[in-house]
Amino acid sequence: MEQTLLYYSTNLEAGVVTFSNALLKGLAPDKGLYLPQSIPQVTREEINNYSRMPYFEIAFDIIRRFLVGEIGDGDLLALVQDAYNFPVPLEKVYDRKYIMRLDQGPTASFKDFAARMMARLMQYYLKQSGNNLLILTATSGDTGSAVANAFYGLDNIQVVVLFPRAEVTERQRKQMTTLGKNIHVLALDAKFDDCQALVKLAFSDPGLDHLCLSSANSINIGRLIPQIVYYFYAYSRLTAKNNQENIVFSVPSGNFGDMMGGVLAMKMGLPVKKFIIATNANDEFPGYLATGLYNKIEPSRNCISSAMNVGHPSNLARLVALYGGVMDEQGKIHKPADMDLMRKEIFSVSVSDQVTRETIREIYSKRGVLLEPHGAVGWAGLIEYLKTNPDDPGPEQLCVSLETAHPAKFPEEIHRLIGLDPPLPESLKGLEDKPEFDSVLPADYQDFKKFLLKNF
Ligand SMILES: *Cc1c(COP(=O)(O)O)cnc(C)c1O
Repeated sequence: MEQTLLYYSTNLEAGVVTFSNALLKGLAPDKGLYLPQSIPQVTREEINNYSRMPYFEIAFDIIRRFLVGEIGDGDLLALVQDAYNFPVPLEKVYDRKYIMRLDQGPTASFKDFAARMMARLMQYYLKQSGNNLLILTATSGDTGSAVANAFYGLDNIQVVVLFPRAEVTERQRKQMTTLGKNIHVLALDAKFDDCQALVKLAFSDPGLDHLCLSSANSINIGRLIPQIVYYFYAYSRLTAKNNQENIVFSVPSGNFGDMMGGVLAMKMGLPVKKFIIATNANDEFPGYLATGLYNKIEPSRNCISSAMNVGHPSNLARLVALYGGVMDEQGKIHKPADMDLMRKEIFSVSVSDQVTRETIREIYSKRGVLLEPHGAVGWAGLIEYLKTNPDDPGPEQLCVSLETAHPAKFPEEIHRLIGLDPPLPESLKGLEDKPEFDSVLPADYQDFKKFLLKNF
């Protein structure tokens, strides 16, 4: 019997727990984030074998390493097969530079990868214990719809989604508000960071303990582990030299959950030459990487890549932990990370809205590739890296930039820039005519608490 992997809190003041505990809790009792005590390793030979496996089998092989002793192989295989029933296209832009389209799931953003797996795992464990759960999630657009869609109609789970009213597109809003049933949506006159702060207050409020609250934000370790898989998948599909080469990934980042999946993949043994963390004008991370000093951006800056308008990425505490440091939930550094190693492995750049727009125009006119604002931030980050990096081996270097949402989620911007109406994926059709079920709430904790106590 393999030994169970245990999870510790990045604030180091809570006890270790099993995966299912960490998954159902979300946040650790000391407000830290859970991480595995050791990182499972994948050998080069095992990575070789991935090139012959479909996506869901790679997902099974990666995820089971984090859940040893916590779920049977047959059960896990059934869950991943059910969750990953959509394609993951890799589109060549030029030379060996690719876009990975993570936008083919039911809500057309990369968040489907994590939300679908997390919902299935939560339901699996709740069925065993007979318990109920109330999920609170703050969203800047795509988390809400991915989570709402993934949990929609489940018996033992209720979901409350909070979103900043002015910061999501109409289509993003309708993806959440038209569901109903166990999905409860609250529109707030606030910023994403305020929504996230309300959710965090609720988690630490003993007066709500009886509601069995949990989180579906990327603070939940159940969201991160599934996001490791597509990095292995991309490498397995594109490597030309029998895994003797390395790869560069560019990740458009907001709360840093996507990027953490990638960094975990690297720490598991995937031969990554460099991670590019591309942010929008919320540039707290590039500054931190350069100086070792961290200053969050308050309030966060509004950019067209709206799902990345995050002034204090919650997963940064995990990144700092993986590099040997300690950062608390406020962003205070208690022990510095190994910044030299971090700079060796990570390149970071902030991309302005102007450059984002130019990128969308240029990659479409020059290469015929359609990107939306988030994917364009990633691509612009890659271009900046290739320009400024003196030891770039050129055309042979394998690079993959992540496209995190479908261009049809941002029709106005795309139309303005290139005069094209991106074709709507099947899953987004018909939203216009459906009724919406959302309530408006002030961004006040006492009002939010009252809402929860009254309704659940
Ligand atoms: C959430 C989101 C991001 C940012 O991902 P993080 O894991 O929060 O860094 C990027 N692009 C899109 C489209 C998103 O929805």
